[in-house]
Amino acid sequence: MNSQRLDALRRKLSTARLDAFLVTFLPHVRYLSGFSGSNGICIITRSNQVFLTDGRYREQVKDEVRGFRIVVASESLFVTAVQKQLIPRNGRIGYESQHLTVIELRNLKKLLPKAIWTATNGLVEDIAVVKDDSEIRLLKQVVTITDRVFEQLLNVIKPGVRELEVAAEASYLHRMAGSEADAFEPIVASGKRGALPHARATDKKIAKGELVTIDMGGRFQGYHSDLTRTVAVGKPSPKARRMYQVVADAQQLAIEAAGSGISGKALDAVARSHIKKNGYGKYFNHSLGHGLGLQIHEQPRLSVLSKDMLVEGNVVTIEPGVYMPGVGGVRIEDDVVIRRGHCEVLNKAPKELIIL
Ligand code: ZN
Ligand code: ZN
Repeated sequence: MNSQRLDALRRKLSTARLDAFLVTFLPHVRYLSGFSGSNGICIITRSNQVFLTDGRYREQVKDEVRGFRIVVASESLFVTAVQKQLIPRNGRIGYESQHLTVIELRNLKKLLPKAIWTATNGLVEDIAVVKDDSEIRLLKQVVTITDRVFEQLLNVIKPGVRELEVAAEASYLHRMAGSEADAFEPIVASGKRGALPHARATDKKIAKGELVTIDMGGRFQGYHSDLTRTVAVGKPSPKARRMYQVVADAQQLAIEAAGSGISGKALDAVARSHIKKNGYGKYFNHSLGHGLGLQIHEQPRLSVLSKDMLVEGNVVTIEPGVYMPGVGGVRIEDDVVIRRGHCEVLNKAPKELIIL
């Protein structure tokens, strides 16, 4: 599994004329080596690959890291890498420009002044954007966990319960169902607060007649889920019902249009034009969706500005929303796998308006 990933990465090193590549971003370290700890780097040259970590992970790496020479560093990882001559002294060395800090780069330049330190962008991302079968299996597992949590959460959401309590239950139920961690802090936004797309849960009590938007996700073996549903507590107003239907239809249209060969921009436009046609255009103020995998937000992007083209094996969210200041909001989000000419929706959580 990781040999295919390394082969693909080496082809990129050769195109970029790099003698070695330094991987410092932990989700990428995990993607390539299997390491799930908090301190590790990979050095990939044209012919070999080394993984470095510190003494705390001496035992863990034996179970996790495959296909790499493992070095347990006695100094900082960079210093050990240089001492053991794991990085070519005079070569062109690529680093992950979005993830290496300025001070780390400065130190590396001091340690290896003759190397040509070369900023790269998106080398691993471009490979990780297409999920293999083992990754899709893990994504399905974490999505299933979140669907189950949503079902249980419906018993918790009622008038008088605080948003924070619902958020706490979402986290707790995820853990109980096998999630390693929250994918992000759960969002619970009720009533007028629903107009804030990224509202944090507060101590506001949920009241009868309000819509409540819950956006939450789990993490399983490093892979993330991301689910949003909006439910009504008590009878919703006709205005809320209409808003809900427009968002639900926009999401369904985008799901029907999704598949390999459509651009992120065109797919965003499918949902956006439906919302606009119904008079809510200015209230859909974020992008339609994002890639999902070892990171909660990754490529490809589905947005007005996106230059990404969807291909088979991408996993993305489809999450249109409408947010009316002073009124409230609706968002519906599913995780989907892009297939040839269509998409497979992973979530099974119901999408008709649930009235609690
Ligand atoms: Zn979400
Ligand atoms: Zn999302």
